Order: sequence, then C-alpha cells, then structure tokens
Amino acid sequence: MAYDPENIFARILRDEIPSTRVYEDDEFVAIRDVAPAAPTHILVLPRHEGVTGPADLEQADAPWVGRMVVVATQVAREQGLDADGYRLVMNWGRDAGQTVPHLHLHILGGRPMLGLA
Ligand code: AMP
Repeated sequence: MAYDPENIFARILRDEIPSTRVYEDDEFVAIRDVAPAAPTHILVLPRHEGVTGPADLEQADAPWVGRMVVVATQVAREQGLDADGYRLVMNWGRDAGQTVPHLHLHILGGRPMLGLA
C-alpha cells in the first residue's frame, strides 16, 4: 500500500486537524480516539511517516516501533490503567478493520475486554 501523506493521522500530526493530545515527544503523539471503543481509548501515532501499517514494517523500524510500545505503556500508566489492565492493538487490513493508513497503536482500557484474543 502506498503511503498517502494526506491521511488523517498525518494531518493530525501536522496540526491541520484538531485532536485531544494526551502525550507527545519528539517521536510520538498520543491522542484520544474520536469514537472510543472503551472508556479509555487512546491512539499512539508515530511522527515517522511512510508506514501504512504493521505489514509495511522492516527490520530497520524495530527500534522506534519498540519505543512506541514502551511509550504506550507509559501513557497507559499515566491514564491509571495499570491496576485493572488494558489492551494494545495494532490493525492491518480489511479483516482487522484498519481505516487509517498510518501505523498506530490503540490503547484500550477501562472495561473488561475478554474474548477474541
Ligand atoms: P484503525 O481501525 O486501526 O485504522 O483505527 C483508526 C482509529 O482512528 C479508529 O478507532 C477511529 O475512531 C479513529 N479516528 C479516526 N479519525 C480520528 C480523528 N480525527 N481523531 C481521533 N481518532 C480518529
């Protein structure tokens, strides 16, 4: 899949579209999902452009993808999710329901999410 720099997350990262930011650093921005699937639903967006989703990743991406996971755990902790737990989700393609072609990590918490996996 070719990366489209006009995708909605790229535009959010450029501040062309408003979002509710709960965390940001040089590499990542975490925003509240506009249609939350759980009481806490946050998306960690890498500023890194060009990767539409997990199937686009290459070995060279491993260091920043690893940091993205660690940032997600920090954000989850700051949101008070450590005690009851949370889910980190990365979607690829139609069957997963991916809608935005810019790699991102969902943080879902605040209710039981049993089943599926
Ligand atoms: P995915 O299905 O993995 O591609 O997830 C994309 C997510 O982005 C969905 O959960 C949407 O609700 C969310 N989303 C779409 N547009 C926005 C937006 N403008 N601000 C925040 N979240 C959004």
